[in-house]
Amino acid sequence: RPGLYIVATPIGNLGDITVRAAETLARCDAVACEDTRVTGKLMKHLGLSKPLRRYDDHAGAAERERLVADMHDQAIALVSDAGTPLVSDPGYRLVRAARAAGIAVTALPGACAAIAGLTLSGLPNDRFLFAGFLPNKDKARREALEAVAGIDATAIFYETAPRLVKSLDAIAAVLPGREVSVARELTKLHEECRTGSAPDLARHYAAHPPKGEIVLLIGPGAAGPPPGQDIDALLREALASAKP
Ligand code: SAM
Repeated sequence: RPGLYIVATPIGNLGDITVRAAETLARCDAVACEDTRVTGKLMKHLGLSKPLRRYDDHAGAAERERLVADMHDQAIALVSDAGTPLVSDPGYRLVRAARAAGIAVTALPGACAAIAGLTLSGLPNDRFLFAGFLPNKDKARREALEAVAGIDATAIFYETAPRLVKSLDAIAAVLPGREVSVARELTKLHEECRTGSAPDLARHYAAHPPKGEIVLLIGPGAAGPPPGQDIDALLREALASAKP
């Protein structure tokens, strides 16, 4: 069926391709991708050969228009280098343009590093905020951390290995006392997930410089007394009303 198929691909372990993703890549007319070499390897692994069309949300207005025009009579699969398209990856503008043009759009869920990291971390997961890459510059990084300070949820960031220790130091300064997780090389041979305080993790990774891909998670702050209320008075009141 013609349309746009948003296809999640593995984040390291090729066994994580879904049956539906493989079937869709086998049946589609073309694959829109970030890097034709990376997607070419995945297609080869699946024993498939399809036209690969490079697509990037920022540089690709003309290619976007051509892709959307072709979706009227072709099945186009959108993949990124790894994981779920649109999650810190291209595709948002393509999906918007396809929807605006009345194209059938469907999503094929699968691997996503943010969700894999969250489920592995042991941090509270009833509420979480995915905030993309933690900025590289000191001031912007501090501001991004301050922005999640008041949010009662686990915050998930994408991070790179060379910046990890600096980011952990910044978390220690801006969000002291938080439980933090570093989820590294998920689904791969050297998968690792460490949860602890930011200063302890910073010391560990300063001594053992990390390699590979990283999800950095920050647990929610401890729930304090409701603003403007005296917790001792509330406790006295509760104890008094509990007396027989
Ligand atoms: N769309 C992808 C997804 O669904 O997870 C994310 C793409 S983003 C450009 C790449 C970042 O995702 C990496 O820098 C890293 O922070 C994170 N990432 C991707 N694969 C990972 C893995 N196997 N283990 C840990 N983090 C990973």
